[in-house]
Amino acid sequence: MSKKKHFETDAIRTQSENTQFSEHSVPMYLTSGFVFDDAEEMRASFAEEKQRDLYSRYSNPNVNEFVEKVCKMEGAEDGFAFASGMAAVFSTFATLLDAGDHVVSCSSVFGATHGLFTKYFPKWNIECSYFNINEVETVEDLIQPNTKFIYAETPTNPGVDVLDMEFLSSICKKHNLLLVIDNCFATPYLQNPIKFGADLVIHSATKLMDGQGRVLGGITVGNKELIREIYLFSRLTGPSMSPFNAWVLSKSLETLAVRVEKHCENALKLAEYLESHPKVKWVKYPFLKSHPKYEVAKKQMRLGGSIVAFEVEGGIEGGRNFFDNIKMCSLSANLGDTRTIVTHPASTTHAKVEPEVKAAVGITDGTVRCSLGLEHIDDIIADIEQALDS
Ligand SMILES: *Cc1c(COP(=O)(O)O)cnc(C)c1O
Repeated sequence: MSKKKHFETDAIRTQSENTQFSEHSVPMYLTSGFVFDDAEEMRASFAEEKQRDLYSRYSNPNVNEFVEKVCKMEGAEDGFAFASGMAAVFSTFATLLDAGDHVVSCSSVFGATHGLFTKYFPKWNIECSYFNINEVETVEDLIQPNTKFIYAETPTNPGVDVLDMEFLSSICKKHNLLLVIDNCFATPYLQNPIKFGADLVIHSATKLMDGQGRVLGGITVGNKELIREIYLFSRLTGPSMSPFNAWVLSKSLETLAVRVEKHCENALKLAEYLESHPKVKWVKYPFLKSHPKYEVAKKQMRLGGSIVAFEVEGGIEGGRNFFDNIKMCSLSANLGDTRTIVTHPASTTHAKVEPEVKAAVGITDGTVRCSLGLEHIDDIIADIEQALDS
């Protein structure tokens, strides 16, 4: 891998080799397989004595370029790219965990990840204990002799709480555990978990990495030996990223820095506006001084991220009324798009979750999660203002 330059430069100048056509923009390598000159080359390639692409379930030039870029962005030794964020989460867990193992995870994880812990891992006798994101000191009490790793997302969804990765890493080192971080909300532009002690970093590339709501993708990067195990599992089981999606995503990463800067600028402006609105009970955004983990956020994040959480007056009805009056912003469960998206967790994604669990992850009946897009901030605020006032 070549020497690391500035983030933006690596994002743009990390490209797979030119073909004989000297193209400026990398072409799409839509091929399932690759050909060999002779029997010896084929043997040496399969024996891994020679580094080259064999079959696109294993690797592909577009996918390799995407992986190399994300590795540079995260300061990681190696990586493997997947068809979706969940394929990355599942394949990473399935590689690391044996029957009878145990995981300690933050209580507010992506819904599908929660589904893996509760519905599928028990069938392989793998258990998970959740630590309360507001009482991160208690994490150590949950560690058992069979615990393999600590898993966390930060900032969390949908409450935008911030977890101190340096602290989690110190606990992991003390107990000889791995630290695995889902860095999807922050993106590698805002936060590099490896710098704070993470062994593996997972992304859903579907969100801000694509940034335009077009393709699915996922990636796990980190320690070379662990990635090697993840690669061996994945090349057999087939969750690999398609070359088409890798091509789209690698182009998207060229503009990640400028896009994320703007997402964050819009988010901070909306958060500051909402703080003084009489119908808003509270606002949470990592870079607001009022955020309980403001200092931790400042330590580990470059900017506050693209998500703002707030509570409108009037409980479930207040929340529903707000949503019914939104005119421009999209009502959708997605996030990290050019379009601003608002969601109401209490009546949608978390409708079936027990009240204690909802409280523990910071969801109240009137909680709104807003994923700031790239529209002009005045138009975003105008839409939210008229919905709050109707
Ligand atoms: C969306 C998301 C995922 C899953 O990614 P997909 O690409 O939808 O499979 C995992 N973790 C977080 C935090 C997410 O937001």
